[in-house]
Parts: sequence; C-alpha cells; structure tokens
Amino acid sequence: MQIYDLAIIGGGPAGLFCALAAQSQGSGGKSVWIRGGRPDFGPAYATPFDVHVLNVPAERMGAYPDQPNHFWRWLQEQELTFAADAYVPRLLYGRYLSSLSTQWDSDQITSVVIAASREADAWRVQLDDGSALLARTLILALGPPRQSADPWDWLLALPPGWAPPPESETIALRGSGLTAVDMALALRALGFRGRIHAYSRSGAWSQSHAPTKPLNPADASKLADDLTSATSASDVVSRIKRATGRAPWRSVIDALRPHSARLWSVWPIALRGRLLRHGLSPWNRHRHRMAPEIAALLSGDDNLVVSQAPPTSAAFTLDCTGFAYRNATEALPMPSLIADGHVQRHSLGRGVAPPERDDLAIVGGMLFGALIETTAVPELRAQAWDAVRRLCST
Ligand SMILES: Cc1cc2nc3c(=O)[nH]c(=O)nc-3n(C[C@H](O)[C@H](O)[C@H](O)COP(=O)(O)OP(=O)(O)OC[C@H]3O[C@@H](n4cnc5c(N)ncnc54)[C@H](O)[C@@H]3O)c2cc1C
Repeated sequence: MQIYDLAIIGGGPAGLFCALAAQSQGSGGKSVWIRGGRPDFGPAYATPFDVHVLNVPAERMGAYPDQPNHFWRWLQEQELTFAADAYVPRLLYGRYLSSLSTQWDSDQITSVVIAASREADAWRVQLDDGSALLARTLILALGPPRQSADPWDWLLALPPGWAPPPESETIALRGSGLTAVDMALALRALGFRGRIHAYSRSGAWSQSHAPTKPLNPADASKLADDLTSATSASDVVSRIKRATGRAPWRSVIDALRPHSARLWSVWPIALRGRLLRHGLSPWNRHRHRMAPEIAALLSGDDNLVVSQAPPTSAAFTLDCTGFAYRNATEALPMPSLIADGHVQRHSLGRGVAPPERDDLAIVGGMLFGALIETTAVPELRAQAWDAVRRLCST
C-alpha cells in the first residue's frame, strides 16, 4: 500500500491552498491531494452566471497569505482589466484556482474518502473506489457541511433550455442572505419575470459594500479588548452599537474581523450559544456584504420582495438558509474519526473541535463552532498555511 507523508482531503479552495502550502513549504516527503468527486472548485466558483460576483474585492482574494493581491495580478496577466477593489465574476476566480491547481506536481486522486482510522503510526485512508492508502499526517479540508436540498445543486443541474414558470407565478426563497441574492439573480438571468419573494426572520437583504475608512489598528484592538469583557449577548450588541456612534458601521464590523476568532475563544460558552441563536443572523447580514452593483440590481427590480412572512403561494421554494453546521459530524469521513475519538463534536453543536493531535488538522467550515469566521478565502488561506506548517514541523 502506498505510504505518504501528508494526505490532503478536499478539492475545494481550502484543499488547494493546503496543496500550494505543502508545495511551497515542503511537506518533508511525498504528499497526495485527494480531491473528492467534483472536477471543479465547488458551486461558488463553478457558477456560469457573470452576475454572480465575488463579495470580497479582487485585491484580497489571492491564494497566498503573503500575497493577498495575487488573484488581481493574475487577472492582469490574463489581460482582464479590473480595478484592484472590483468585485469580479466568481467564474474567473474558478479559472484562477484551476490554473493554480496545475502547479501540483505530486499525486492526485479523484475519489471520495469514506473512512480514516489509525493503523500503527499512520492514518489509513479508505476511498470509495475500494482502494486505501497510508499517510503519516492528514489534513481535512472538507468544506462547510451542505444541506441536503442545496439550491446550488438545483441551479447547476438545470437542463439547457429550462423554461422558467410563467410571469403570473411566484418563486419563494427561504432566507435573504447572499445565497438568496445569488438565486434571485440566476432566476432573472434564466428569464423568470414573475415575482421572487425572499423571506427570513430579519425580512431584509444582506447589506452592501460601500467605501469606508478603515479604523486604525489601535482603535480596532481597543474595541476588541473592550468586547472581551462583555457579559451578555445584548451587552455585545450595545458595545458594537456604541462603537458605530464613533465610526461608520462598516469600518467597525471590518475592524472586528481579524479579532473574531480571539473574541470567540474568550467568551464563555453560554454567551457564544446565545450569540449564535440571536446574533448570528444580524452579524452575517452586516459582515457578508454584497457588491454595490448587485445591491443596485436588487433595488431596481420591482418584482423582487423581501419580508418576514413567506408568500401565500409559490411555484416552488428554494432553501437559501446556508450551511448545515449541525450536520458536520455526519460528513464523510467524520463518523469513523469521531467513533475512534480522534475528532470531537464541538460543544456548541456546530461543526467539530480543532483536533489536539499533532498529525491531524482540520481547515475551513467544519471549524465553524470553534472559529465562527472560517469560510472565506482570507481565513482559508491562513488556516491552510498554518496547518501545513504545524503538521510538517513534527
Ligand atoms: C455561493 C458562495 C459564494 C461565495 N463567495 C465568496 C467570495 O466572494 N469570497 C470569499 O472569500 N468566499 C466566498 N465564499 C466562501 C468560500 O470561499 C467558499 O465556500 C469555498 O468554496 C470554501 O472552500 P472549501 O474548500 O473550504 O470548501 P468547498 O468548496 O465546499 O470544498 C470542499 C471539498 O471537499 C471535498 N470533499 C468533501 N468531503 C470529501 C470526502 N469525504 N472525500 C474527498 N473529498 C471530499 C468536496 O468534494 C469539495 O471538493 C462563497 C461561498 C459560497 C457558497
């Protein structure tokens, strides 16, 4: 059986960033990248619709932590002229990731891992094609757990020439975050002219980006330090609101992003639980913002409705409520790792806890309960580089 020094499981951006990190830092031996069953980089970057743009400016989407503008420079090399702060079609980001993936010069496998277990001093990785391999260290970059009725599966499986419902019909979107926005835009691009009705607890779309002056780092640290001593969810909210009296709200939210993992780790578990129940949706609405040009498209569409209540009737409903973090422990190969005690469910019930072993790392959405901000490219590339450095220095 083939024995590797490092096996990276996951063919999305996080898996690729781990592969790039292993290649540039050196993994101390032979590595394998197990990419799963998808040939592309997942629905976020496989969407064919130009109107599906990044929600992070091009200059911050680079794959390398020390070169955040690497993607923007790649665009220029391709003679694709965009401003550094442009919100670029995500399909171009998919092409960027594909071009980087060709740099991987070690082994690559396109199968799904169904189980991972310890065998002597290595991990035995069992694949769905019946084969297995051994690896001294393992990185799981499996992505955030997806819901069973994911709207992306529906959208990307539509046959060519799909006829949308007639104009007299309504299509309902459960949720009003960025996934709902993407679905509304795709439905319009596919020719649906009827009413699109999004509904959610907030009854409002995600906020949009706008130019804002960043807080200076000292003020950002002061605000984060102040928040560490918050005693309740409403105390957290009122301290953030107080800060927005002194600086634009976008600057305040952005300033907290680099501190979010630290804050999350120092707050008591009961407070974190209450914030997840009551604060997550407003946080997401302000933190995960859409490009200004997308906000303009929404506000110019008179047949687009967002409210707290669902429509009375609809041709069909798309569930746009996001990732299923509660189901993290069911995703392959988590059950075998949990049963053997190598990985624990996170105490907040959302995702898993970071493993304490020095031969296993988890990167990305599976760590939601532990880190809260763990799905966007800036977080993924930093985690990927850290994981490879940690495992390969042992
Ligand atoms: C619609 C959308 C838009 C987004 N836009 C942005 C944006 O503009 N900017 C930004 O920074 N972030 C954005 N994100 C967030 C983030 O960049 C994406 O979610 C990204 O795809 C996450 O990468 P990942 O590798 O962690 O997970 P995924 O892309 O989900 O990849 C996981 C990979 O693991 C594989 N896998 C899973 N289980 C197994 C297994 N058992 N065996 C083998 N392989 C397995 C899967 O097949 C897949 O290839 C967006 C997310 C979405 C959903």
